[in-house]
Amino acid sequence: MLNCPVCGAQAPGNMKYIKLLVCDHCKTSLFLEDEAVKHVGQKSAINAAPSIFELGRRYRYRAMTFETIGRIQFDYGDGFWDEWWVQSDSGEGKWLSVDEGDIAIETPVELSEVLGNNQTLPDCEQLHVGGKITLGKIQLEITEIDTAKCVGVAGLLPEVIFPDEEHSYAHCSGAKGQIYTLECFDVQKQLFKGSWIDPFDIELF
Ligand SMILES: [Zn+2]
Repeated sequence: MLNCPVCGAQAPGNMKYIKLLVCDHCKTSLFLEDEAVKHVGQKSAINAAPSIFELGRRYRYRAMTFETIGRIQFDYGDGFWDEWWVQSDSGEGKWLSVDEGDIAIETPVELSEVLGNNQTLPDCEQLHVGGKITLGKIQLEITEIDTAKCVGVAGLLPEVIFPDEEHSYAHCSGAKGQIYTLECFDVQKQLFKGSWIDPFDIELF
């Protein structure tokens, strides 16, 4: 069991895969390694705009039940959107992107299963809207490229991100309504795969 080194509050139970924890009591960011606090960061606050989700609640989407365990809020200039890190009852982690009524569900892609031999992900800056990229056997069309600034974080997250950090991303469309997001930050790149979902298919569980 982990306690916040700043205020002593007890952190929630399951720290597997978690790299960043925001203390629910004093809002200090705690960076974890091997399920122990490695570094204490600044306080983090989220813009309290209403959202379809609340942290620490359980929801159902079709056959999947999940709990919202972390949240990253981004500012893209004209507004905010939220990335909710959720854990399904089967133990899978997924991102739910909520931009007002638009919700996408995405899962991190294991790059070794997708990319061809010696292939790496492109840089977001090398791409342009309307362009096409091929990753292994997957053909994608770039639909949007932008950068967004992290406003704040809450809960438990599988990645380390700081307020004011800017991430570049490219949204891509694949076959059969699939969407992919390429995220670039410094030399780190991640690929996510998912689809749009209907907000009316989500219910409290
Ligand atoms: Zn604390």
